[in-house]
Amino acid sequence: MAAALTEDDLTGISSDAIASDDPRPYIDQLVAAVDEDRLAAPDLASYALGLAADLAEGLHDGDLALTLSERSVEATQGLDDENWTRARHAELLLRFGREDEGMRELHALRPQLTRDEMASLYVTEALVENGRGELAEEWLTTALTTAAEIVERAGPGREADEIRNIENVLALRRFHVRRDLGLPYDEIDRIAEQLDDENPDYVFWPEKAFATLLEAQPDAADELGATWDEHRAMIERDLQASDPGDLPLVEVGTPELLTALLGDDEDAAPPPGPELEWPPGRNEPCWCGSGAKYKKCCLPRGRA
Ligand SMILES: [Zn+2]
Repeated sequence: MAAALTEDDLTGISSDAIASDDPRPYIDQLVAAVDEDRLAAPDLASYALGLAADLAEGLHDGDLALTLSERSVEATQGLDDENWTRARHAELLLRFGREDEGMRELHALRPQLTRDEMASLYVTEALVENGRGELAEEWLTTALTTAAEIVERAGPGREADEIRNIENVLALRRFHVRRDLGLPYDEIDRIAEQLDDENPDYVFWPEKAFATLLEAQPDAADELGATWDEHRAMIERDLQASDPGDLPLVEVGTPELLTALLGDDEDAAPPPGPELEWPPGRNEPCWCGSGAKYKKCCLPRGRA
């Protein structure tokens, strides 16, 4: 019997399908893996069906896409990404002309906007992608008002902190939606834009922290670089390649940030680390903290 398919295998089938002239055999392959119970974990069924639905959408085969996406929703019930899958299904319903059902699904998800910080993305994506940006903006604005009321009612404490976090996400998402709609700036946008600017392009991890981080989360290598040398080179290269007036924002990872990253999600977010000062003088100590002169350390690293 063939080995059970992992998440990577499923993603691989989907990439092959996108690169091929005819994705249909790959759609069949994904569906067969679910029907014949050949998945490495049961919760991959929803993922496999979702990929198949995406491929069917690419073929403009609405009936097939909706059938598969509906199965994906059934398979995800009770799992963490249930709401994502339902929102994605709503998006397809709207795309393929089943307005009433799509909007009913989105209305059911709408209360999540003030409960789940990811909801501002998945709920409004389905609207924005189907030409309903104005409605998305309206929902986000209303959710912000509701969130403010919840904070006020709750008084200081954990619940208020959580909702405040959600408020930031809502304001940021609203800002992006409004910008895409070409709407003028308002008071909330001005605050949101500041939040936007505070998101660093990179977090630079000093040597020891980098080692700790990669040991605990080997997957982080995809984003941060496989070694500390690569990590430093990547940041230096991008800084050197950037317009001096518009340098990427590099935040220095602090021990508090590392602890938060390695701990559970329950911890409150620590304050951001300091912004990296760049470039140092050629003969000054390198920004990476190696102790070597910049000209002997990361300056050439960025050119390699
Ligand atoms: Zn250096």
